[in-house]
Amino acid sequence: MHKIAVLPGDGIGPEVVAEAVAVLECLQTEYGLGIELEYGLIGGAAYDVHGQPLPEATVELAQAADAVLLGAVGGPKWEPLPIAVRPEKALLGLRSALKVFANLRPAYLYPQLAQASTLRADVVSGLDLMIVRELTGGIYFGQPRGIRKTASGEREGFNTLVYAESEIERVVRRAFDIARLRARRVCSIDKANVLEATELWREVATRVAADYPDVQLSHMYVDNAAMQLVRAPRQFDVIVTTNMFGDILSDEAAMLTGSIGMLPSASLNEGTKGLYEPIHGSAPDIAGRGLANPLATILSVAMMLRYSLQAPEWATRVEQAVHAVLDDGLRTADIRGADGVAASTREMGQAVVAKLRITH
Ligand code: NAD
Repeated sequence: MHKIAVLPGDGIGPEVVAEAVAVLECLQTEYGLGIELEYGLIGGAAYDVHGQPLPEATVELAQAADAVLLGAVGGPKWEPLPIAVRPEKALLGLRSALKVFANLRPAYLYPQLAQASTLRADVVSGLDLMIVRELTGGIYFGQPRGIRKTASGEREGFNTLVYAESEIERVVRRAFDIARLRARRVCSIDKANVLEATELWREVATRVAADYPDVQLSHMYVDNAAMQLVRAPRQFDVIVTTNMFGDILSDEAAMLTGSIGMLPSASLNEGTKGLYEPIHGSAPDIAGRGLANPLATILSVAMMLRYSLQAPEWATRVEQAVHAVLDDGLRTADIRGADGVAASTREMGQAVVAKLRITH
């Protein structure tokens, strides 16, 4: 029995999570997948009830679960709040409470949606890459940091890029393990020619590679990687990189596919626990109107099945069901293009569930 904490959050979060839960429940009733769902509050929804975006009860629920399914947080209603209790603050808190250090962001171009990319079809068709971003270290967390006055009275801002060998090694190992489930190529991205912290990164990546003779390792400087992602993105299979480089490159890679409503993510800890969420936010502009695309959240469930529930065959089934509904021409408004009738959030979710039933 797998315990799954479900945190719908704000805006379109509850709408898209409902469809992802319907997929999980279908696998439970039709195929006997052993799951137990428990709901918790996060973000603005939690603030409204408890006066804080990440209540202790939610942390405990998430820590006790095998996997966490998160919708999205935030919205204009909570923007005037002090930063410490803003909904988005809950995300950092949850990641560190769960010690999820490896953030997986696939960028996969559905052939049916090739026209959604701003890049030419011959450049992006067949795109299928995975970015593994270090999530809990590096310059976003390094000490010392701050803004101080210099001797001359001028202010200066400073941050610290620091990586321990063990921090590098665990995320690089994760990338190699994932490459074994894919095309067995890892590209480690750094700025080793300028930054000592990433010189060490490169050295550790090279050392780890010796344990994976069946996986090919290459290295690339981050500035080149940013160019290669738009020049010839199909050259990549798995990319592993630091927190800040991964933050930037994963958004760039996401946009190669052109559709934010299609992209899932997973954040994994040392073991099999993971936090699964779509990469999009709470989309207040379309919330509550049944317009949101639930596929990113449904595909996050597929990642949960693969990485936390050790059920890769069900992950593939869910991904195939998504392919099948796209083949049928079903489109939510965000991926519809200029013409055609848009399906609602519910219709899209139910179509995926129907495909899962048919393939049974
Ligand atoms: P967003 O991702 O919410 O929306 C950007 C645009 O994409 C909007 O036009 C939205 O309508 C559209 N969009 C997003 N998801 C969609 C989906 N599933 N289907 C169809 N269209 C979709 O980003 P934003 O507008 O910058 O932020 C809105 C709020 O979400 C803010 O409060 C922000 O802080 C928060 N946010 C939360 C997360 C998170 O919870 N992980 C991530 C990013 C932003």
